[in-house]
Amino acid sequence: MTAEKYDIAVIGGGASGLMFAASLPLEGRKGILLEKTHSFGTKLLMSGGGRCNITHGGSIKDFISAYGESGPLLRKCLYRHSNLELADWLADRGISLADEKGSLIEPHEIEDAGRLFPESMKASDILDMLLAVSKENGWELRTESEVFGLDHPDDEAGSWEIMTPGGCIAADSIVIASGGITFPETGSDGSVFGLLRDVGIEVTELRPALAPVYVEDYPYEDLSGVSLQDVTVTAFSSDAACTCKGKAARMRGDILFTHRGFSGPVILNISGYAEPGEILRLQYNRELSDLPKRMQKILEKRAAGPSGDVRTKVLAALLDHDDFRVISTDEKGMVTAGGISLEEIDMTSMQIRNLPGLYAIGEAIDAYGITGGYNLQMCWSTARTAAEALSSDDAGC
Ligand SMILES: Cc1cc2nc3c(=O)[nH]c(=O)nc-3n(C[C@H](O)[C@H](O)[C@H](O)COP(=O)(O)OP(=O)(O)OC[C@H]3O[C@@H](n4cnc5c(N)ncnc54)[C@H](O)[C@@H]3O)c2cc1C
Repeated sequence: MTAEKYDIAVIGGGASGLMFAASLPLEGRKGILLEKTHSFGTKLLMSGGGRCNITHGGSIKDFISAYGESGPLLRKCLYRHSNLELADWLADRGISLADEKGSLIEPHEIEDAGRLFPESMKASDILDMLLAVSKENGWELRTESEVFGLDHPDDEAGSWEIMTPGGCIAADSIVIASGGITFPETGSDGSVFGLLRDVGIEVTELRPALAPVYVEDYPYEDLSGVSLQDVTVTAFSSDAACTCKGKAARMRGDILFTHRGFSGPVILNISGYAEPGEILRLQYNRELSDLPKRMQKILEKRAAGPSGDVRTKVLAALLDHDDFRVISTDEKGMVTAGGISLEEIDMTSMQIRNLPGLYAIGEAIDAYGITGGYNLQMCWSTARTAAEALSSDDAGC
């Protein structure tokens, strides 16, 4: 069977694949973006509850710590394609930004803003713009095209080959933008990782992150829907789970009680460190009387002795270190921890070092950030870095 021939093929039509295509005018070259499902950007449409928390304000220097250990490795592409650059790029394409309250934020004002959204508060406006600009740039956008095979070139002059239900596609460069493993119903089911391992790429252990955490003997079922601000949460590392001496991470923020376990921003952010069998410690940072009435009752019941009397010392201890042994994190994490090893990627171009012509961007790589727009910013920054590297005149995009 003869293969259709392209200069560049992108695998995955989510935030990062579409940003890549929207950032790279083809100028006579032939490019195709292949999306497995029947529509583009399903996860992007879900982002920010449909409002799309597109990035975060502040200096890009402050972004590095939001990505944990991966932050320093992402530095180059974040600095080169920052939140400020994104705001300018969006403004040039008719998209203004707003803060959480909906107040318009001009690009030069983003240093003082927190979470940023499109002013319309509609993720669909971002998706529509990315699709329109990708088409203007000359990209062929194809849905219902699941890539189920990947072959590397026989020699340096050869092309990559990818197998789709519609036939074989040959391309000089391939961009992996196939996302992670969470919310598989959106199409991001991790199927591409097996193909990558087959061509010799290291993929680190994949698991959900930014997920609710379930613990043994969860006592707060009746508080489902109640949130509590400013709680300190500590996850202890595995070798310290018995003694609670070594901490893997400590964060402060809002928690949400669900009927099955803990959620809310600080829990989602620390969930990547909450290993099964380890201890998660909650410090409520307030007096008993400042807690919701129903929670006071639960704590008093837990602190009661055999005769039913509340033991004040036990109660004080619960307020200061309410410890739970982790059972698991929810499989519906907002993002994936793990992915294509960053060691394999040249972060100035997003090209896989030992496989010329193969690039990786977005959630498919082994990096993720805390909540607040950092994950989409990583998609934008990595996509635009790859687009710049693949631009025909190398003059940027
Ligand atoms: C509920 C929810 C809310 C979120 N809200 C925010 C937010 O407000 N701000 C933020 O920064 N982040 C948010 N995130 C995270 C953010 O949405 C993701 O990090 C981002 O969408 C990842 O983009 P991506 O393009 O790398 O991957 P995806 O968006 O997962 O796109 C990958 C695409 O590749 C396709 N694909 C997979 N395998 C194949 C194959 N074999 N062949 C062809 N196509 C394939 C998939 O169908 C999919 O369309 C949220 C995530 C969730 C789940």
